[in-house]
Amino acid sequence: MKRATVLLAVSLLVVACATMRPQGRALVSRAVQAMGGADALAGVKTLSVKGTARQWEPEQSVVAGGEMRFANEATFTAVSDVASRSTRIDWVRNFAYPSPRTFTFTEIVTSDAGYVAGIDSNGRTKQSLDSHPPAHTMSNARLAATQRELQRASSLLFLDMLRNPDRVRSAADVTVGGVAHPAVEYRTGDQTFTVLFDRATGLPTRVRTLDYDNIWGDVTYDVVLSDWQTVDGLRVATTRKYELNGRPVIEEKITEAKVNAPVTAEAFAIPAAFRAAASKPATGAGVPYQWVIRRQFIGTYLDSDVPSYDARAVTSLRLVELAPGVQHVVGGTHHSLIVEQRDSLIVFDAPVSDWHSNWVLGAARAKYPGKPVKYLVLTHHHMDHAGGLRAYAAQGATIVVGKGNGEHFRRVLAAPFTRNSDLSARDLTRTEIIEVVDKRVFADGDREVHAYLLDNPHAEGLLIGYVPAARLGFITDVWSPGAGPLPDKLNPALAAVVAGVKKAGIAPVKFAGGHGSVADYAPLAALEGR
Ligand SMILES: [Zn+2]
Repeated sequence: MKRATVLLAVSLLVVACATMRPQGRALVSRAVQAMGGADALAGVKTLSVKGTARQWEPEQSVVAGGEMRFANEATFTAVSDVASRSTRIDWVRNFAYPSPRTFTFTEIVTSDAGYVAGIDSNGRTKQSLDSHPPAHTMSNARLAATQRELQRASSLLFLDMLRNPDRVRSAADVTVGGVAHPAVEYRTGDQTFTVLFDRATGLPTRVRTLDYDNIWGDVTYDVVLSDWQTVDGLRVATTRKYELNGRPVIEEKITEAKVNAPVTAEAFAIPAAFRAAASKPATGAGVPYQWVIRRQFIGTYLDSDVPSYDARAVTSLRLVELAPGVQHVVGGTHHSLIVEQRDSLIVFDAPVSDWHSNWVLGAARAKYPGKPVKYLVLTHHHMDHAGGLRAYAAQGATIVVGKGNGEHFRRVLAAPFTRNSDLSARDLTRTEIIEVVDKRVFADGDREVHAYLLDNPHAEGLLIGYVPAARLGFITDVWSPGAGPLPDKLNPALAAVVAGVKKAGIAPVKFAGGHGSVADYAPLAALEGR
């Protein structure tokens, strides 16, 4: 009886698959038809577009979980050559955050190399700094991410799907905004796109990947295609909105498009020295797509094969002892502070990723054997300083956050993270979280550590650290000590530091930073009243 049931179930499954397969293919051929037909798509040799883009970053908000930060608006001219699988994009990006500035640069992407001419980030690599005029090769992860996003948004994706029916699989309907869309999955390289179709027109409406986000864990990332217009016999989606877990983070408008305009091969030429030095596209489950894509939103992406540091400049993160029992974790784009107490350690900030945290935890274990990290103090909720919190929680650390941020981090730690390649999935919901309302003293009999809430314009609930025995403060983003000369007058962020130190009644001699290095506090305090 049992066996018969199993057999019946198996045969039903076979029937279901057999009937689903052609349905998936039918969705693809209907979409291709709606886009102008297979011949029209196959006739595309070059595609030239002009457009505008705006981007928002949810995890740089002022309030944790609050309104997304407007990051930049841009204009672009892009040209793709189908035969050589090459694309060139000329960008002018006007950033609003973290500071107003404009980057004008060109990206060239081929099947096995990526190149950037000009400056596209404040996080410049050694290769970019050493090149005159400034230029650099794309990291393996950026090349993979750029190739993936070009493919996601390309009309030719559907011609590929039509030509590779063995890689198309029917999927269950996907409901978005109360509407159930028929869908297929398409495997290409190591990517799987879930493509949703409009039931009425047959056109594709959404192309989804399942990504990992260092704050929200497993997330969906979609391009939403709309405003279809006919361009030289092809239907082209002239509005592309990108949604992260359903929240719009990019809006692109195509303002001009042309099929088969002549393009010279030079447009895609990568100088030989850069081509030879270029990384191949990264593959596998560990590509941090969301990190690569979204750090570019705010113009701070470090284009390195190792996301945490410039792999062409240094070989590792490292510890610098600032005082007995106090280590600054430096060498990368983002720093932490480790403070040794009698029985355990306190760490400030968990930047970038759990890979980064695992390095810090390993270095801390080697330096202070037998002393676990009891507290991880997050100065604020931004993804670049908090995205490695899970590795600490997994070791049993208590997470310390500023006033009002506890509920946010409870939600973060409850989010599934099966696609985190640096930490296997586990239940972190029982992690203890402490909110610092005003001041918190961590004392276990040896080397007291303080955390103070700081009123500031950067992030609500931001904390600064203080080690009285060393007269050393720790501060992230509001001031980057040693990163450059101080201004002539206090700006609102620096004024907040001076006011906060006064209010706390502490007497720091130096501050170490989440960015920058270490600097004396007196020259900053002396700017008050100027
Ligand atoms: Zn920040």
